[in-house]
Amino acid sequence: MIDQTKRQLLGLDENLLVNDPELNCRLHPETLAAVLDLRARAANFGLDLRIASSFRSFERQLLIWNNKALGLRPVLDSSGAPLDIHCLTERDKVFAILRWSALPGASRHHWGTDLDVYGAVNVNPDYQVQLTLAETQEGGPFADFHRWLDTELQQRGTPFYRPYAQDCGGIAPEPWHLSYAPLAKNYAQIFTCDILREQLELAPLQLKETVLAHLDEIFQRFICVN
Ligand SMILES: [Zn+2]
Repeated sequence: MIDQTKRQLLGLDENLLVNDPELNCRLHPETLAAVLDLRARAANFGLDLRIASSFRSFERQLLIWNNKALGLRPVLDSSGAPLDIHCLTERDKVFAILRWSALPGASRHHWGTDLDVYGAVNVNPDYQVQLTLAETQEGGPFADFHRWLDTELQQRGTPFYRPYAQDCGGIAPEPWHLSYAPLAKNYAQIFTCDILREQLELAPLQLKETVLAHLDEIFQRFICVN
């Protein structure tokens, strides 16, 4: 594999990506074109598709990880309640963080193909988007949008899919997370545990020894390569 592709997989190379200032996102241009199309389709149903998160660099994911490991940023349990990270063993810390956050280098948000979406109709402009399941379910502010998205993603030929649709014991379900299949499937296919290990060994990563000791298990359970 060429070095540049490896760097793209790991969130270290953004040369292929573009910004859309209106949607406030950074994506591969092909992903962006498909998102704008999806946004237009949503608008036909009176829904305003917005992006909560798009490309995230290795550096950024590293900062999130390290802040959680150091207790500078909240770590939540499966039900969304804050955990006291200082009471946990190193191993438990790693797995608690992984429930909601990717390891740096292992986020699909590194690829320019993945994004978190919500639908903003009838939402107070001051509303802070949380990206929780409750927001997407009946009675939640984005329930209408997600009902539409469910139908849209079942259409033939739709280029998007939800890699984290179900809780498989690793990553919590994230119905708001969309992947642009024509590019993301390629990245998913070539991503390996060895590529990740090589990068993490060099990085100033908190809990590094524990992460590397369990990396095979982490890769299997938490790294979504579908
Ligand atoms: Zn996401």
